[in-house]
Amino acid sequence: MIKRPFTGLSQPKLKYDSVESDPKGPETVLMPSNILLLLNDSLDSLRTSLIKKEDQVKKGEKLSLYTESTEYVISPVSGVIKKIESYPGEFGNIKTYLVIGTEENDDFVNDFEEHADKFELEAAAKLLKSLPGAPPFETLIDPTKKIHTLVISGVDEDLASTTRQYFLSTAPEDLKEGIKILQNLTKIPKIILTVPEGFNVEFEISGMQVFNISSFYPNALPEMIMKNQLKTTVPQGKTCEDIGVCFISSEAVVSIAKACRDKKVHFEKLVCVTGKDGVQKRIKTSIGTPVKSIFKHLNIHTNKNDRIVIGGPFKGFSVFTIYHPVQPCMDSIIVQDAGIIPFVSDSACINCGKCIKICPANIPVNLLVRQLEANLFEEAKETFDLESCIECGLCSYVCTAKIPIFQYIRLGKHELLKMKTETEKEGANG
Ligand code: SF4
Ligand code: SF4
Repeated sequence: MIKRPFTGLSQPKLKYDSVESDPKGPETVLMPSNILLLLNDSLDSLRTSLIKKEDQVKKGEKLSLYTESTEYVISPVSGVIKKIESYPGEFGNIKTYLVIGTEENDDFVNDFEEHADKFELEAAAKLLKSLPGAPPFETLIDPTKKIHTLVISGVDEDLASTTRQYFLSTAPEDLKEGIKILQNLTKIPKIILTVPEGFNVEFEISGMQVFNISSFYPNALPEMIMKNQLKTTVPQGKTCEDIGVCFISSEAVVSIAKACRDKKVHFEKLVCVTGKDGVQKRIKTSIGTPVKSIFKHLNIHTNKNDRIVIGGPFKGFSVFTIYHPVQPCMDSIIVQDAGIIPFVSDSACINCGKCIKICPANIPVNLLVRQLEANLFEEAKETFDLESCIECGLCSYVCTAKIPIFQYIRLGKHELLKMKTETEKEGANG
């Protein structure tokens, strides 16, 4: 093993993008003739599905595969189902996608209308979880979580996005209204609004605190806010929600306010799109619009081997199709030309120590990655703090040997979860 000192290395300072002082409104990307919806459920050839090809669907209709399914999507359009197929998600998780041919008619199944004036959390979880911004109602109704603090996030977690800041800057009244609705609905005693450094919040709400978040990555990640502002460390293998802190985006809060005011669900999602030239544009479009339609509108041409990243440069994931649809939680898209994609290698670690120096969770990353490369997942967890990783991706970014450390980490966590689920299943079956 080569020994090198871990001192004397300078840390990269990665500044978050800031919304303009007088932000321009988003460009509208019109809904195409076919939209796609992703359903977090898998098709089962032995069961009869509740929905099938050629079925007519109405705007606002809740679509799920089977009577006992808990997963659903709400159709943002009226039209006809043209296709229902399996969709290979991350780590081989099979989901389902629906293609809906849009039709121009005003049919709208408005299940929310009767709940809008005085709705309960259970109704919100059933009817509002697909709102733009993806409000975490399932966490809020989960009796095992015991949420005591709600953090409204007016800061974007990754670079190349100003979606959350945009709502913070341009919709203070809706934000205020949405926070009050959530206060009444959840009775959560502690409400926090996070804003970028120097941002002036124009409204006050009794019981709400405002936290200024440093403009350098990764300080807007939930685990960093827990550590820096709430002075709480999330224990290994746990989430912020497990210890009673739930995060919700400013867009989700604004969407809740609009839904209650208009007594109906909205489907327009704001997305920041960074093209191959690095220019960032803000667009709004219906949930379900394939990214292909956005690229066409913005004149972004994609070629073979270009990369489409959903999310930011650190926490985002690549997709293999230009038909990937806009989803409620999708804040940003980056298109990278094949020629500038940073390469990864299977070279061995040279022990330069950069990853250790930059890791905000103080993980011995150089040792951890050796275990992960050898598929020693239990070892990685027990001895090298795999589950303390907050998935910021900084280690991959600085790695001299260009090892895809972050991908190894995510795969390692996924394998551990799979092993745990299998053990639990075996236990349940005796
Ligand atoms: S992704 Fe890397 S740098 Fe970030 S917390 Fe995990 S191990 Fe540390
Ligand atoms: S994993 Fe990469 S950054 Fe970390 S010590 Fe090894 S070569 Fe350096």
